[in-house]
Amino acid sequence: MRTIVWAIAACMAWETSGFSMPSVLPVARLGHGSSVQSRSPRLGIPLSSRGARSARLLKMQDGGLEGEEVRPEIKTKGSKSHGTDVVVIGAGLGGLSAGALLAKYGYKVTVCESHYHPGGCAHGFEIKSKKGGIFKFDAGPSLWAGMNQPSTNPLRQVLDAVDAKVEWTTYDGWGVYFPDGYFRFNVGPADQPGGFEDVLKKFGEPGGGLDEWRRVQETIKPLVLACTTFPPMALRADPGVISTLWNELPKFLSFGPVAAKINGPFSAVMDDCNVKKDTFLRRWLDYLSFALSGLLADGTICAAVSYTLGDLHRENSVLDYPIGGSGAVCDALVESIERNGGKVLLSTHVDKIIMKEGKAAGVTLKGGDTITASHAVVANAPVWAIPKLLPDEYEKKVFGIPIKAKNEGLKRKLSDTPQTDSFMHLHLGIDGKGVENLDIHYTVINEWEGGIDKPGNMIVISIPTVLDPSLAPDGKHIVHAYTAGNEPYDLFKGLDRKSPEYKKLKAERCETLWKAIERVIPDVRSRVEVELSGSPLTHERFLNRPQGTYGPALAAGKAMFPGPGLTGIDGLLCCGDSVFPGIGVPAVAASGITTANTLVPLEKHRQLLEEMKAEGKMPDQCMV
Ligand SMILES: Cc1cc2nc3c(=O)[nH]c(=O)nc-3n(C[C@H](O)[C@H](O)[C@H](O)COP(=O)(O)OP(=O)(O)OC[C@H]3O[C@@H](n4cnc5c(N)ncnc54)[C@H](O)[C@@H]3O)c2cc1C
Repeated sequence: MRTIVWAIAACMAWETSGFSMPSVLPVARLGHGSSVQSRSPRLGIPLSSRGARSARLLKMQDGGLEGEEVRPEIKTKGSKSHGTDVVVIGAGLGGLSAGALLAKYGYKVTVCESHYHPGGCAHGFEIKSKKGGIFKFDAGPSLWAGMNQPSTNPLRQVLDAVDAKVEWTTYDGWGVYFPDGYFRFNVGPADQPGGFEDVLKKFGEPGGGLDEWRRVQETIKPLVLACTTFPPMALRADPGVISTLWNELPKFLSFGPVAAKINGPFSAVMDDCNVKKDTFLRRWLDYLSFALSGLLADGTICAAVSYTLGDLHRENSVLDYPIGGSGAVCDALVESIERNGGKVLLSTHVDKIIMKEGKAAGVTLKGGDTITASHAVVANAPVWAIPKLLPDEYEKKVFGIPIKAKNEGLKRKLSDTPQTDSFMHLHLGIDGKGVENLDIHYTVINEWEGGIDKPGNMIVISIPTVLDPSLAPDGKHIVHAYTAGNEPYDLFKGLDRKSPEYKKLKAERCETLWKAIERVIPDVRSRVEVELSGSPLTHERFLNRPQGTYGPALAAGKAMFPGPGLTGIDGLLCCGDSVFPGIGVPAVAASGITTANTLVPLEKHRQLLEEMKAEGKMPDQCMV
């Protein structure tokens, strides 16, 4: 059973990672269609629920800002106390996916989010420059795939299930600055002209070149097939999963021993295929793994890397970007929750989970209001934030006898979950005059010595205005550069964000980002109109991530991501990157699916699957 569940990991692995790609493709149309006038221009959601936007000074003690943040006006007056069926703590993509599905299933849902923007790591924000132009930034994810049409991507299945509309534009590769030299990584079959085999012919060497690559491709074929056998929307974390996966089970079992490899580390495949250490190919596969999970190939599950390779190298493969930025995806999910009768309460921090008769029964908000939940509480907060939400002890009955259950051990266990490192960020609004032939994404790796994961070594640059110029005023670009989950929090721990010491350190640590961007736009520093720099402290504060972490560091083969019932508390399920299948946009959507479906009677779940199949929303997408 466990193998089956792990096998599904592929459905959930996020296709590509947080790095870079270029464009070339025509920019698709912008905005949200004809209903746009009744909606907030950026948020794409009814003004009644969020209020108008207003420009307010951004109180960002980290400094470095040249402009004002444009924030949504959030109603904060009046009691928020009410009763509902399900309370979701956190409006990250995991919580929004779970909330949107539960609302679609007919439950009354209230999502509580601490931030004034929905989306968690994936939220969007706007800065008005001193010259008055609005720049729309992505806080985090920039790499999306399998989104422009119904696909095996779990997030796409959520959007399709709840009729959430997002417009996508596509592109076909990204620019890579490796220590070996520059190349453009073009998606699609590796043996097509300009494909990955051409890169290998240039940079590959004996032990890590064409022969080994072809062996890897052959080896992963059945893995990719096994990974794409189960539709993510069929997931649930109870015995009902046998019923929802039943039709595909014989096909999956036909892959036999191959399926067993799926939850091991991808490095095992590299070893089987004789990909030698310190070769270009080994480093490439380590880079893809690191970008996916924050761990190298020896810690990243085979399912995730195999699925990614299968997706990147299939016929007609493309990458996607949401028109309006990552905030547009969050807004579409919020809109669907509200359309189906639910609420998304922003600037609403949950202080504690209420326990009643041994069961999670609601939440207490900062300020004292309470929201009771008759069906369940769903926690989308990262695992390290959950102990604070739990009471130290609560009463429950065992065989009818009341006992005091203590949460001390559970809290310790959750807090001890190992963490990946954090990020440095640069968000820039720049003058784009004379800057030509840009790609939307680039990856820079400075050196191989010390490893890909050495602090400050791997940098991702995203310039989404290349595909969606509506994100900036005419002739301008937005640039988001970040070190990809490799900045140690401890360097900044305890520093006062207003102190000169902090500012100096932040400026020093950002240099690697500036230098990376200069490879793409040599005179970038003279073009800056808006500048925001961020450290692990900024990441911790604005993305609400404990120690600014990318997510749990659970190495494949040694540890497993837990399921949604990780606390063992009745009525409390978790979703997001702290639970199976882990970090990344598709993965957290898959966890939202699993959690929502687990809370729904099997019949309702099966009905949704039937409807989606009939409407062509769950294609059988063979990728090899
Ligand atoms: C810089 C960066 C780049 C990335 N790039 C990519 C990429 O290109 N492609 C990709 O697939 N993935 C990428 N990722 C990973 C991906 O964005 C995340 O794994 C995913 O968005 C996490 O979603 P989540 O729902 O688990 O959690 P989160 O996004 O952390 O959401 C949790 C939410 O819970 C809220 N919350 C917490 N506690 C409380 C409380 N007590 N009360 C109320 N609310 C609370 C938080 O404010 C937050 O909004 C990137 C991540 C980062 C940081």
